[in-house]
Amino acid sequence: MTLILTHADVLVTMDANRREIADGALVAEGPAIQWVGATADLPAAWRARIDDGSAQVLDMRGHVVLPGLVNTHHHMYQSLTRAVPAAQDAELFGWLGELYMLWANLTPRMIAASTRTAMAELMLSGCTTTSDHLYLYPNGSRLDDAIEAAAQMGMRFHAARGSMSVGRSKGGLPPDAVVEQEEAILRDSQRLIEQYHDASRHAMLRVVLAPCSPFSVSRELMRESAAMARHYGVSLHTHLAENDNDVAYSLERFGMTPAQYAEDLGWVGHDVWHAHCVKLDADGIALFARTGTGIAHCPCSNMRLASGIAPVRAMRDAGVPVGLGVDGSASNDGAHMLGEARQAMLLQRVGYGPAAMGAREALEIATLGGARVLNRDDIGALAPGMSADFVAFDMSAVGYAGAGHDPVAALVFCTPGTVSTSVINGRVVVRDGVLLSADLPAVLAEHRRLARELAAARR
Ligand SMILES: [Zn+2]
Repeated sequence: MTLILTHADVLVTMDANRREIADGALVAEGPAIQWVGATADLPAAWRARIDDGSAQVLDMRGHVVLPGLVNTHHHMYQSLTRAVPAAQDAELFGWLGELYMLWANLTPRMIAASTRTAMAELMLSGCTTTSDHLYLYPNGSRLDDAIEAAAQMGMRFHAARGSMSVGRSKGGLPPDAVVEQEEAILRDSQRLIEQYHDASRHAMLRVVLAPCSPFSVSRELMRESAAMARHYGVSLHTHLAENDNDVAYSLERFGMTPAQYAEDLGWVGHDVWHAHCVKLDADGIALFARTGTGIAHCPCSNMRLASGIAPVRAMRDAGVPVGLGVDGSASNDGAHMLGEARQAMLLQRVGYGPAAMGAREALEIATLGGARVLNRDDIGALAPGMSADFVAFDMSAVGYAGAGHDPVAALVFCTPGTVSTSVINGRVVVRDGVLLSADLPAVLAEHRRLARELAAARR
């Protein structure tokens, strides 16, 4: 299938020269982009395909087109537990304490339904690739439940096999009822990699190994997960240095800072990314820069839980790969990718002054930054050979009124809108603001019903 996009007011490429093309056009064949340029320069062969009706044409007059945004940290099941009253005003450990026993009642249907809902929300907000960190498997739930839902939604997916193994009785944070045996975790991790992981270019599904956090798994599980990940060539992901209590736990229990602990475990390298790192110290920043270790920066979650301001300016200046994450829906509680880019820009300014981050850098972190963090070189930019993942925002929306001076910056400075069009892997998944890959009202109705069921099952 040939897809030809024409007449974008601005086509933001994020290519090596960061070109922004006026009256931009793009051609995709199947999953890959073939050509990018000004509409007037569209080669005759492609123009003929428009004239003879043999290509799908997207006329993007009045729109800004961007590479699809990349979400590097999420817990989609938490979409079922948004704004839970008892957890609204707590910091991380207290918040987790309130929610663990609610999550203990999750079912496979709930995992699938929440994945569909979270992906719909992300897709409408400009995201085309997402990771999800699922670390609780109660009542027969499996990562397969999320993987099947992602395939239905048509979203590019990095499915992270999370895990918790150190319950309260062994000095961990989670109740014993929600942790697994380490042997079972490793066996399931191996099964998932062998069954699903696709290392090929334009892969729609990759598997990631992701023990939940230093305060919920053992040193051994961290080390063995790293060994398995490297054997199979898959990435590693966890939470690190999220707030002061998290650092204190690391110092007390391991006698090391979170960064020292990560290095000691072999959890550094271009195939590793850590969520948050709000409290990563200067030595940690230097270590991450030296090793190419990535960070999923989650500004909304960091504000919601009052964790602090991650030193993203210093990280970027040092050369640390930084992407964005909306984080779980119970600690954000919104999953708007363009909105997350906006908050990243604003929060750096609160911490480090008005020049700390501009709109284009925020968009770069949301696209190229996320791609690098996920260890991919086929997404995050619009250029020949890259995956055909792009989104379009309608600049005639009221939120962009008066922002024609710089429509690209307006996407970040103004109230974040939703996409009018989204294409993932060459397939149109949103058109005229409507999700095409799922019946959204039906998805949301089921999600509402299951959220009520989960709340009622609290024990
Ligand atoms: Zn998280």
